[in-house]
Amino acid sequence: MCIFCKIANKEIPSKIVYEDPYVIAFLDINPRSKGHTLVVPKKHYKTLDEMPDEELCHLIKGVKETIKILKKLNFDGYNIVNNNGKAAGQEIDHVHIHIIPRYEGDEAVKFGEVKDIDLDEVYKIIKS
Ligand code: 5GP
Ligand code: ZN
Repeated sequence: MCIFCKIANKEIPSKIVYEDPYVIAFLDINPRSKGHTLVVPKKHYKTLDEMPDEELCHLIKGVKETIKILKKLNFDGYNIVNNNGKAAGQEIDHVHIHIIPRYEGDEAVKFGEVKDIDLDEVYKIIKS
């Protein structure tokens, strides 16, 4: 059983922020900002696109409920991050949404540099 399944089953302790029948949200053990939280479906799926629509609805609703609770931290904004696949930086193969509260002036999350990519070529592939 994977580590997030074990957390969902309470076999491994975590600092639970929010829980309902479908999702569990807990503080990330390596926080990138104050309140960095992971929202996880209780059922095991590896990547977001594998999830049935209904499960996805439950997951995003869990994200919203968790944000409402985190508001006690008085953040100024937040990033939602979701890594899928090793190349994207997914370390734990159980879908999870990062909620990363942001505070004015912090540098918790940055997009990479803009790349010189031919948009016409990309669009042609997508639309073919
Ligand atoms: P990923 O890189 O897969 O998107 O993110 C995985 C996240 O899970 C990391 O930010 C890491 O700190 C967190 N994490 C890994 N193991 C544990 C754990 O046992 N407990 C908690 N609370 N977080 C974990
Ligand atoms: Zn799992």
